Amino acid sequence: MNNRIIITYGENLREMTREILKKSELEKRIPKGSYIGIKPNLVLAKPSFSGATTSPVIVSALIEHLQEEGHDNLVILESSWVGDSTKRAFRICGYEDISKKYNVPLFDIKQDAYTVKSFNGMDMEVSDKVLSLDFLINIPVLKGHCQTLVTGALKNMKGCISDREKRNFHTRGLHRPIAYLNKIIKQDFILVDGICGDLDFEEGGNPVQMNRIFCGTDPVLIDSYIAEHIGYRPDDVEYIRIAKDIGVGSTDLDRAEVIVLSKDKSIAKPSSSRKVQRLSKHINAKDACSPCYANLIRALARLDDEGFLYRFKDSPILIGQGYKTAEGNGVGIGQCTSGLCKSVGGCPPSTSTILDFLKNL
Ligand code: SF4
Repeated sequence: MNNRIIITYGENLREMTREILKKSELEKRIPKGSYIGIKPNLVLAKPSFSGATTSPVIVSALIEHLQEEGHDNLVILESSWVGDSTKRAFRICGYEDISKKYNVPLFDIKQDAYTVKSFNGMDMEVSDKVLSLDFLINIPVLKGHCQTLVTGALKNMKGCISDREKRNFHTRGLHRPIAYLNKIIKQDFILVDGICGDLDFEEGGNPVQMNRIFCGTDPVLIDSYIAEHIGYRPDDVEYIRIAKDIGVGSTDLDRAEVIVLSKDKSIAKPSSSRKVQRLSKHINAKDACSPCYANLIRALARLDDEGFLYRFKDSPILIGQGYKTAEGNGVGIGQCTSGLCKSVGGCPPSTSTILDFLKNL
């Protein structure tokens, strides 16, 4: 499955997770009796709708699937960022309830012992609990990051080291140690929460409703796919590039087998985020599907970063099923706007496709 990515779109997180796990045949990849670690992203104590943390609904559905398939030796483990308490994050993010309901222990990596591991001459203190696992399931959030541009599967492993090591990572420039850490810790399966990750910040605050969950086994390929969803090329993100160079995985999305299970035609709702509201002033939407609208918002955020957003100040971009019969002038996004003079196809078109189209107008 290494070059395979399975994605589904929608609003029913539980059903989507179960659908994707069934298709991936995750249970068959796990040897019987394995000690299985589930690593969400609980970077801080904020609920998942903030755009910062992994949805407890996705984790619950994963546990149900594993337990039904006879995999009972589970642990949820995490270490929130320096300055926040993992225990508080477990409580605020709904993981204490999961632990009680499914009888799965929570493990705070901040309280662990660590073993120094090394790659290419770089030492790092890695959690003994993580090193004791037989199978590691990583559940990052698809979101932007102010220093590394994106955060996903590779960077989520930063929650598997000591707080002292997290500080060292920052003094070493983040990218290289993140890539090297992924030579030391092997993640066996990745399930990405792409429901409403933040536009630019790992701590949330500007969630973008993206309504997608996807999975794979190559963290570099998954992060390349995440980068594309946010409007970057894999090589724009230094730690993805380094991870590829040292053999953690592949960035070759052209050779990836992407399987789409379900599309989502739910209509995009107004966002409470000021930044998303500001970007949406450049859009005229008529019944735009949530994933399509989200990809356009992410593309506009990148255009804003690059100083091109002013081009659409007086001529908003058209998107949505309400433009299916529209013709004539106008810039349109998605196959619904194919009757307009300038339109980009796809249903939905990806963020990077939209970005290229808008930049080249
Ligand atoms: S192209 Fe039209 S139908 Fe397809 S996702 Fe976009 S708005 Fe929805």
